[in-house]
Amino acid sequence: MAPISQEPEEFKYIVIGGGSGGSGTARRASGWYGAKTLLIENGLSGGCCVNVGCVPKKQTWNFASVAETLRDSVHYGFATPPNIPFNFATFKAKRDANILATNRSYESNWSREGITLVHGTAKFLTPQTLSVDLEDGSGEKLFKSEHICIATGGHPIVPEIEGAEHGITNEGFFALEELPGKIAVVGAGYIAVEMAGMLNAVGVEVHMFIRGETFLRSFDPMVQETMTKRYESVGVKIHKRYEGFERIEKLSKDGEGKKLRLVIKGEEDMVVDELLWAVGRSPEIASLDLKKIGVEVDAKGHIVVDKYQNTTVKGLYALGDVTGQLELTPVAIAAGRQLSNRLFGPPHLSSSFLSYENIPTVVFAHPEIGTIGLTEPAAIAKFGASNVKVYHTRFPNMYYVPFPPEEKAKNPTEFKIVCEGPEERVVGLHLLGLGVGEMLQGFAVAVKMGARKRDFDATVAIHPTSAEEVVTMR
Ligand code: FAD
Ligand code: NDP
Repeated sequence: MAPISQEPEEFKYIVIGGGSGGSGTARRASGWYGAKTLLIENGLSGGCCVNVGCVPKKQTWNFASVAETLRDSVHYGFATPPNIPFNFATFKAKRDANILATNRSYESNWSREGITLVHGTAKFLTPQTLSVDLEDGSGEKLFKSEHICIATGGHPIVPEIEGAEHGITNEGFFALEELPGKIAVVGAGYIAVEMAGMLNAVGVEVHMFIRGETFLRSFDPMVQETMTKRYESVGVKIHKRYEGFERIEKLSKDGEGKKLRLVIKGEEDMVVDELLWAVGRSPEIASLDLKKIGVEVDAKGHIVVDKYQNTTVKGLYALGDVTGQLELTPVAIAAGRQLSNRLFGPPHLSSSFLSYENIPTVVFAHPEIGTIGLTEPAAIAKFGASNVKVYHTRFPNMYYVPFPPEEKAKNPTEFKIVCEGPEERVVGLHLLGLGVGEMLQGFAVAVKMGARKRDFDATVAIHPTSAEEVVTMR
């Protein structure tokens, strides 16, 4: 289609992608520093996190936690029937309404802060010029700027096996109108563990297919081992050592087309209601025409950037999931804000950048996992075994006191502090148990500030909490 305007409209700053990172950098540039900013978005404003990621996920995690609490209440003497009926559609309608409202609030914030929003798909003509295929079908429009930021995120990987399209990804998961009776979850990372935990908590039969012996293999061994056992003990069926996807050879519709049949090499077929692919994400670069302008990408397609988020082409920057640097919403936002501080802020911010060291993260599993810094093996590899000291504790959270012993045993709380050097600087903190998602943020400040074990020890405990164990560990 011919461009409707041959004369590009000029902006001080152009941001491609209105997700966490794109919104963060555009708002800082325009709202704080008054730079004339254009934001180009070809999907739902707010991107992955708001629409098909963190936000609907956390609401579903809360929904599942309520189910768990209701079930637990019997141990406190409540006359709770064993299977309390619930209406998933009621919850989903409320979740959808909230997402829509959040989504709209993104656009109203942009508008209030003077950002021009164009709905369409951007591609590069030159390093300074973009052509945007407008979403309303009216053609293409040209824009130019000396500063263009690529914040186009990523998309879920779906393997190339026969019938793979019958499975769902996180996007399909949040579109489900009813809960499946039985689901296969392929993957062993954040999404697989979070979705499997939520579904199991609300009574879905969950089968996880993982390549190794444990899931969350990039986390500390304590997390991997305890959480994998915990999931097994509460009924998640974990099919281990699935080398790549090839063990699942084929997916097909079964019977009347409502169920899915998994053909598994060396095993009987399995029939499920849904299959969830959760095997990682790929950067969203296909539409950008990066080759034409010489922006370097790595083997997985992630845009290569330096610590200032500069790509290999002057005036072009990239941040967030498209760069593959810690795919987390606050990371994308923080990188975006620092970039705008550097480009448009006062002189004392002209060297701003985001440090990717000591970034805390939580897996909203059942129970949660909170972690910051190095795992024990990573600390040993970096500092040498003789320079690393580890503190470890495992105890029952007081919440489980009235539970029968076999139920108590299924609900561990476990913490590990990894320290380095004679000063015992805390270089890793790994927590799992009830409430650790809220607990970690405060400790993350201390770790980021370079706290030593004795600084933790010098802090008076808050009693009775499980957090107090972090400052009383021996
Ligand atoms: P995105 O949010 O993906 O935004 C990119 C935007 O660019 C999209 O809106 C897309 O439509 C647009 N776009 C792409 N190409 C073009 C183009 N050519 N032209 C115009 N627009 C374009 N992180 C957390 O911190 N905590 C969590 O609890 C958490 N939970 C998650 C749960 C799930 C199921 C998933 C999938 C992710 C989760 N994440 C979580 C990760 C988080 O969502 C991402 O790290 C974050 O959204 C990345 O932001 P981004 O700006 O890089 O990309
Ligand atoms: P992850 O990178 O967390 O995990 C991908 C998983 O896919 C790994 O466990 C890996 O298993 C598995 N895998 C890869 N290839 C294959 C294969 N060929 N066969 C079988 N399994 C395979 O990706 P996710 O998709 O779970 O999530 C994407 C990102 O989104 C996360 O990295 C995280 O940054 C972000 N996210 C953050 C959340 C949060 O903050 N709470 C929640 C959800 C997502 P293996 O162990 O064998 O390598």
